[in-house]
Amino acid sequence: MTGPLPVAVSVKPRRRRPDSDVMPAQAMPLEGPLIDRYGRVHDDLRISVTDRCNLRCVYCMPEEGLSFLPRNELLTFDEITRLAQVAKSLGVSALRLTGGEPLVRKGLPSLVGRLAAVGFEDLAMTTNGTELAGVARELAAAGLRRVNVSCDSLRPERFAAIRRRGKLDVVLNAMTAAEEAGLTPLKVNVVLLRGHNDDEILDFASFARSTGRIVRFIEFMPLDAQGMWDRNRLVPGRQVFERISAVWPLEPVSDPSGTAPAERFRFADGIGEIGLISSVSEPFCGTCNRLRLTADGALRNCLFSDDEDTVRDLLRNGGTDADLSLLFRQAVWAKFPGHGINEPGFLSPARSMSMIGG
Ligand code: SAM
Ligand code: SF4
Repeated sequence: MTGPLPVAVSVKPRRRRPDSDVMPAQAMPLEGPLIDRYGRVHDDLRISVTDRCNLRCVYCMPEEGLSFLPRNELLTFDEITRLAQVAKSLGVSALRLTGGEPLVRKGLPSLVGRLAAVGFEDLAMTTNGTELAGVARELAAAGLRRVNVSCDSLRPERFAAIRRRGKLDVVLNAMTAAEEAGLTPLKVNVVLLRGHNDDEILDFASFARSTGRIVRFIEFMPLDAQGMWDRNRLVPGRQVFERISAVWPLEPVSDPSGTAPAERFRFADGIGEIGLISSVSEPFCGTCNRLRLTADGALRNCLFSDDEDTVRDLLRNGGTDADLSLLFRQAVWAKFPGHGINEPGFLSPARSMSMIGG
């Protein structure tokens, strides 16, 4: 590992509209699927259940000093379930729970049970894995289908340096527990930071081959609370592909939905699969089908946009399902064509990854 790990500097978020947003005004449809001005249908909702976390990953949160939402600002389980029902009525078929760390929210299995009862085709969760082993069976019994577990190093000291808290063996045991509970296929999220863990690309490829877990290499995105992102720190997906395929040839796996963020590859000898999430170097905005609900009840149509539509006030002030549906439609309709990271003048959004829900 070379050089010190990134340190906190100040953030100066500002609002922006990308130059590429040139679509003329059109009438927003009031029925049918959730569609935006560019024809993208949104059927995947990411719900953040908390902005709190028990880790402090260097690419996400500062070690100290981040303030969290007061508890009364968090959506209750009743409110989340109601919004999930509205989303389902608008054609949302896949739901993912995230955060912050979703498992630090008390009683999560009961929320999973309520969301499962709404009846989505897919119900998944992204977790850091530190609290997963003890609840994996309960979550599966409640209706969770699968989990993505984040793990940025297979070396204990480095894992501790990147995630600042938590232990590698706990997370590896949690992956096994999740598989035993049937939360599969299990995906492992790896954020690559140049000079810090990119020498483990082949180790992670070998891990994918030996465990059958789908390892997804994620480019570092300008969503850290410290504002320390810079392009030189990210490892482009293309380079990951070249390094792995030089040792183990890879073949593309087609995505029938055409909307998956990860470019999927299987090892040509049939043993295992990896994914590349090249959000910065090869944006996939043109096929984006995702909408996000923050823990305090704001709908966000893009990780990188500062535009938010608050549903919580409407929920708490007697809004009808029709009112809520309209807000969902407006949030999606206003989506920009792309995240604009590679446009001149791009500015990181005011809320960072853990506050939005990754
Ligand atoms: N706490 C959970 C976890 O770590 O899996 C769920 C929330 S976390 C925000 C969701 C995913 O976003 C994780 O895989 C994490 O590694 C990733 N992530 C966080 N900050 C990121 C950044 N600046 N760039 C790229 N990925 C990031
Ligand atoms: Fe917590 Fe996940 Fe952010 Fe790490 S990436 S600090 S585990 S929310």
